[in-house]
Amino acid sequence: IVQWTPFFQTYKKQRYPWVQLAGHQGNFKAGPDQGTILKKLCAKEEKCFKILMRDVLRPYVPEYKGIITSDDKECSYIQLQDLLGDFISPCVMDCKIGVRTYLEEELAKAKEKPKLRKDMYEKMCQIDQHAPSEEEHKLKGVTKPRYMVWRETISSTATLGFRIEGIRNVDGTSSKDFKTTKTKEQIIAAFEKFTEGFPHAIPKYIQRLKAIKATLETSNFFETHEVIGSSLLFVHDRYNANVWLIDFAKTVVLPENIKITHSSKWKVGNHEDGYLVGVNNLIKIFMTMLEH
Ligand code: ATP
Ligand code: MG
Ligand code: MG
Repeated sequence: IVQWTPFFQTYKKQRYPWVQLAGHQGNFKAGPDQGTILKKLCAKEEKCFKILMRDVLRPYVPEYKGIITSDDKECSYIQLQDLLGDFISPCVMDCKIGVRTYLEEELAKAKEKPKLRKDMYEKMCQIDQHAPSEEEHKLKGVTKPRYMVWRETISSTATLGFRIEGIRNVDGTSSKDFKTTKTKEQIIAAFEKFTEGFPHAIPKYIQRLKAIKATLETSNFFETHEVIGSSLLFVHDRYNANVWLIDFAKTVVLPENIKITHSSKWKVGNHEDGYLVGVNNLIKIFMTMLEH
């Protein structure tokens, strides 16, 4: 009996260990072409990549190569440039940008039937016994919107406008253990470990971040979108260092007649995402590291 394998399942072996620092394991696989990866299709994200391929931001995002559907039509993927492709044993860091990581509509939905959640209360207590109010302690429950807003304050998200999602170090070990990495000092310690032995990476990261910032300021895509849950992916090896914008699954077009600065304070309903707060703080922090 001859077993037929759909051709695109015979992936070429990657020349280097690919690493995924966030998201569900099942959302990614190696692409059919060398130097590409497949990410599970999300209509919102695909739309963003299409626009980005014609935006000034194009050099700062992975190249989008279209949709691929499995032969059984069960599953569709977007094919993206593998950003690790040109590196040798790369160190990788995912920083999620913005002062919040949920959409306005997700918060609004959570507010519709705000019942008390015991599970969220318990998660809150595990991290900080003093986080719940007296009332919440009495009720042994918190509402989901309350939990969502609080959760952004345990990391650096609410204060610095970014948080570390994951790091893959030079020794091959990786960590996603940054949920409560909050202060500038804690961030610097993590960045120092990440760049240890690669001092050339820091000025390259600064230069690239500055170019990203300048390009964001002229981008039509950035002007018209609320960028939530998106990351900057930092990659370096012995020779090179670079940064790209990734993950647009939660990036949405701003409602008509709403303009945002991406740096003003977020208040419920004003759609500010704090993206530039994060970029500016990243630049500042890497520059501080240069002085040491
Ligand atoms: P989440 O929403 O939980 O952040 P996700 O499923 O939307 O996850 P992404 O954030 O897009 O997935 O990517 C997850 C990880 O996969 C990244 O942290 C990075 O390590 C890796 N990754 C994503 N896109 C690329 C790419 N184009 N090249 C190389 N690595 C990538
Ligand atoms: Mg992500
Ligand atoms: Mg995502």
